[in-house]
Amino acid sequence: MTGRDFELIVRGGLLADGTGAPLRRADVAVAEGVVTILPAGSAATAARVLDATGHVVAPGFVDAHTHSDLTTLDGIGEAQAHAAVLQGVTVEICGNCGDSAFPGRLRDFAAFARAHAAQGRANHLASLVGHGTVRASVVGHQDRVATDAELAEMCRVLDEALEAGAVGLSSGLIYAPGSYADTAELTALASVAARHRKPYVTHLRDEMSQVEAALDEAVRIARDSGAALHVSHHKTAGRYAWGGTLRTLPRLNRLRAAGMDVTCDVYPYTAGSTALAAMLPPWAHDGGRELLLKRLGDPRRASGCASPSPRACRGGRTPSATAAGTGSRWPAPPTIWASRAGASPTSPPNTAPTPSTSSPSCCSPRTAT
Ligand SMILES: [Zn+2]
Repeated sequence: MTGRDFELIVRGGLLADGTGAPLRRADVAVAEGVVTILPAGSAATAARVLDATGHVVAPGFVDAHTHSDLTTLDGIGEAQAHAAVLQGVTVEICGNCGDSAFPGRLRDFAAFARAHAAQGRANHLASLVGHGTVRASVVGHQDRVATDAELAEMCRVLDEALEAGAVGLSSGLIYAPGSYADTAELTALASVAARHRKPYVTHLRDEMSQVEAALDEAVRIARDSGAALHVSHHKTAGRYAWGGTLRTLPRLNRLRAAGMDVTCDVYPYTAGSTALAAMLPPWAHDGGRELLLKRLGDPRRASGCASPSPRACRGGRTPSATAAGTGSRWPAPPTIWASRAGASPTSPPNTAPTPSTSSPSCCSPRTAT
């Protein structure tokens, strides 16, 4: 192309073309939504020319982990709604950690897509289907195994959403009610994602002292279902888990080298963040928010160790001890880890330092997002 063919030319920058090739000096031009890399010495002109000397010119970034499902719908202000694109993020993936805007606040994926289409956006948005959201809509907030009929209904809801355009299945296995699901339930749902050739994206069941066992579970779900696996915001939090990534990251690399489709993302910062409610043990959430508030209003239970069920509290570390870094989250009880088929609980492949008690504690905080 020559003459004023383009709407925009970006000149003088170092080009990262998105293929992984080394940076090189090249000009790019845009016309009618198509980006063209201009040959060296091109005489092309454009209505607008941007001097990118001293800068890198790159395609938009995909942010694989956001919770911006509703940000533009909730009228939080243009500046914040545009924050991602101002950082170069042209695609956001939401619906992470088992939590999507549908089926719940929005009836289904189609309603979600319609709501966003009506608003307009500065970038693209793709959503996973949140396992916790689906479970809440079918099973409710009960701390129990789903019945076969409920599981079939969850699979149907997921199948419909994936068919309509959702990009995968996400789980958040520290959050109620997702945390109430066993491995078999997740495998059945991930199998639905696999049929659509879409991934299983997981916030692991534990990101602290049991992170390696939690990764084991995720790998088993991916293998048994055939879905690609993506580990969300991978980290090892809490002093007992520090250094655990020296084992988990090589493990992910070995799995990839062996041909497994597995990836992970990480925070671009060293802190973690999550909802305050996630600091409470799973039993506290049993039955939903109203019952949670009721339990918190009961001084005996709210003090931490007067749990309503035998499985919920046999540990007894104090919040101050764990705040100092002893570092266990609520260990998943065997009833959760065991599969429907009665497989035995998973044990960590590597022996990370573990807390002095392996029984579930109701007093240790956990960190996650
Ligand atoms: Zn998360």
